[in-house]
Amino acid sequence: MREKSISAEATKLKKLRGTLREWYGRHQRPLPWRTEPSLYRTVVSEFMCQQTRIETVLPYFERWMLRFPDFIALAKAPESDVLRAWEGLGYYSRARNLHRLAKEIEGMDAPLRIAADWKKLPGIGPYTAAAVASIAFGEPVPVIDGNVVRVLARVRGDDTEFRSNQEAVDAFRPLAEAFLDPRHPGDHNQAMMELGATVCRKSKPACLICPLRAGCASAGNEAEKRPRIVRRATVKVDVKRLWIERDGHLLLHEGAPNGRRLRAICELPLADDIPAAQPGEQLHRGVRAITHHRITEEIFRARLPQLPGTAALPSPPRNGQWHWVPLRHIDAVTLSGPHRKWIEAILEDR
Ligand code: SF4
Repeated sequence: MREKSISAEATKLKKLRGTLREWYGRHQRPLPWRTEPSLYRTVVSEFMCQQTRIETVLPYFERWMLRFPDFIALAKAPESDVLRAWEGLGYYSRARNLHRLAKEIEGMDAPLRIAADWKKLPGIGPYTAAAVASIAFGEPVPVIDGNVVRVLARVRGDDTEFRSNQEAVDAFRPLAEAFLDPRHPGDHNQAMMELGATVCRKSKPACLICPLRAGCASAGNEAEKRPRIVRRATVKVDVKRLWIERDGHLLLHEGAPNGRRLRAICELPLADDIPAAQPGEQLHRGVRAITHHRITEEIFRARLPQLPGTAALPSPPRNGQWHWVPLRHIDAVTLSGPHRKWIEAILEDR
């Protein structure tokens, strides 16, 4: 029954493939990985654009291409340079995986061409594998991300409640496969992502100018309610950090070399990690979101007790390291994105 209805929906949608591609040809944003495409540029853009807005990615992408113009340059670069160039984009595991990927590709006689093989490489999930294989090699596999799910759920008029993005992605895969234009899979996939990002937006979709309007069950009607993904409730977390300065040096904690999230990345120390420190005035208050956690971080100026040097510090927590970094060299340290912003704000205020 479901197969029958998918095939009926797909027949209706297939008539709109040409309109969609024509719309994409005329209205796509001139992004640097589209105007000057290559396998390397496609791969880097896909890594950078995961969980990050395109406007944020653009300056990073341009600088990255100057610093690491191809897989060879990236493969040869030290990890510290790669992390430094990524600083501010967040989710550093993407940078590490991209670096490992460049090394693997460098060792191959020819790059892999199909999504199933790309999925075996570091940091490549089904979405990136499909994007690279369809855009760079013309393999007919659909990409399905939040943007594409939104378009398909609205086109279908689907009010199913999904418990996660992944559940929705899985549910819409058959329709995405049926709708895919097998002769132009790369353009079709990019058109769907572009449509979701610029026309079929989360709020106020521009149905009047949408190329799928003729086949869409939600055009001008309840579109904003779809897809229905029941999110986990936001969890609020409060964190206290310390600004401990001594002779022009700032104390930072570097994540453990085998850590998961902050490997080789520095942050201001947690108050809980240095119980002997005496917090004073509040210097800054920042908020960041990680998955469904809303984290409020307060930074306090603090003093260590009389003991000189690192003897006043407990062992570094979580197998990391303490560093006294000269403030005049703070630019050379790899910090997590929010901490770079907060440290700069504090230094500017004095
Ligand atoms: S007609 Fe409106 S709701 Fe339907 S796909 Fe286009 S923008 Fe989205």
